[in-house]
Amino acid sequence: MQFEPVIGLEVHAQLKTKTKIFCACPTTFGNAPNANTCPVCTGMPGVLPVLNKKAVTFAIKAALATNCTIAQESRFDRKNYFYPDLPKGYQISQYAAPIAEHGHLDIETEQVGVKTIGITRIHMEEDAGKLIHDPMRGKSLVDLNRTGIPLIEIVSDPDMRTPAEAGAYLRKLHAILKYIDVCDGNMEQGSFRCDANISLRPAGQTQFGIRTELKNLNSFRHVEKAIQYEIDRQTYVLTQGDTVIQETRLWDPEKNRTVSMRGKEEAHDYRYFPDPDLVPLIVDADWIARVSDHMPELPDQKKDRFISQYQLSEYDARMLTADIHLADFFDQAMTRLSNAKQTANWVITTLLGLLNAQGIDITRSPVSADNFASLMGLLESDTITATVAKIVFEEMAKTGNDPQTIVRQKGLEQVSDRGELTALVDEILAQNPDEVAAYRNGKTKLFGFFMGQVMKQTRGKADPKTVTPILKSKLQSGS
Ligand code: ADP
Ligand code: MG
Ligand code: ZN
Repeated sequence: MQFEPVIGLEVHAQLKTKTKIFCACPTTFGNAPNANTCPVCTGMPGVLPVLNKKAVTFAIKAALATNCTIAQESRFDRKNYFYPDLPKGYQISQYAAPIAEHGHLDIETEQVGVKTIGITRIHMEEDAGKLIHDPMRGKSLVDLNRTGIPLIEIVSDPDMRTPAEAGAYLRKLHAILKYIDVCDGNMEQGSFRCDANISLRPAGQTQFGIRTELKNLNSFRHVEKAIQYEIDRQTYVLTQGDTVIQETRLWDPEKNRTVSMRGKEEAHDYRYFPDPDLVPLIVDADWIARVSDHMPELPDQKKDRFISQYQLSEYDARMLTADIHLADFFDQAMTRLSNAKQTANWVITTLLGLLNAQGIDITRSPVSADNFASLMGLLESDTITATVAKIVFEEMAKTGNDPQTIVRQKGLEQVSDRGELTALVDEILAQNPDEVAAYRNGKTKLFGFFMGQVMKQTRGKADPKTVTPILKSKLQSGS
């Protein structure tokens, strides 16, 4: 029997506020354990939470960027459960009346092209603390610095059908949140976390099957691999005639498998009820308008602009706008350049190649936007050849120096002097009589060989536009 996977994702994004959601403690990462705490976020008796307005503004921004309808009135609820990282014994969240609902965003995959994924809801909540287990001493330590950090949870509709679609959705959502500057997107530090819900159903059936929920997915790659594993596992279970157990499973990135963690809790387990310490949250049309007026260009809009302003292909524009910092880098370089296609190629192939090899993102690029633009400028003015530009780029990556200095120091300016190049061509033809004879007997593919020799002898500095006609006429002339 053929089974169709059904996937829905829940994303927790940490909002980039300076202070926590219900107290004035700082949200900085990496401070000494429990340094960022106060009676409110440690759940002391008698304290009262005060909602951080900036967190609401960020949630509104995220809701607008994902085409959600914003509730004029939403409420905070208590989600009750006991765990040592939750000092109050409940998490303040939004359950019955979230701040936003009914959104969507477009993703693109190779198999199905553009597809719209529904967003069920976005709600605001506070983060829990962190447990650090110390098996040597048989102890667990509690760090409450993260307790009370503002989060939004973005819940997708169960609209995805493949790991690739889930990956595309996550990358798009990640890009959007960074574009609108409400979340730093750091997955290693847990600022952007994903749970994946997966079920299978017989092809053609409309009713959904029983799902499992996967946790501990802290990279895009892990999400895709874990979902694929879970699809395979559930397929096996169903093919055996067994039923999938509704449960929460953990992805083990070392062993490349998911393992059962606990039975899936149901909403009623949490005894949700409205938090009596917080008044309903009212978001009026003015507030929404103010946020909307300051909305920056979103990924799809930037992509469309890149296509029209720079005449780039859909592919190039998508690559360049996948990350806001990369898009800014390109925009900045283009203020001084005219050949957008050439610049796009260099960014996508050479620069991204370097960054991927070093495992860093554009914000930590050893080559600055300014120096990169200068290098492209030298190419555009035919001061250096593309071969030399590669050498200079590598030097720039190593030293951080500007390209003019490197070109001067290494004597890499392009050679386009006709006399000099003609003499060199004569020399090369004299050194390779067999190839010359073969060429004249019709093996014209050897043209590349001669060009290669010229480049070798000039260390890539010969201007191909000058060399080509000289080489052609000398080879054909038979003299
Ligand atoms: P919970 O908070 O208990 O995980 P939700 O109803 O909020 O439950 O659903 C969470 C996510 O699970 C949503 O992204 C939703 O799209 C997805 N989902 C719900 N049912 C299924 C299913 N049968 N198969 C796959 N995903 C599902
Ligand atoms: Mg869930
Ligand atoms: Zn606090």
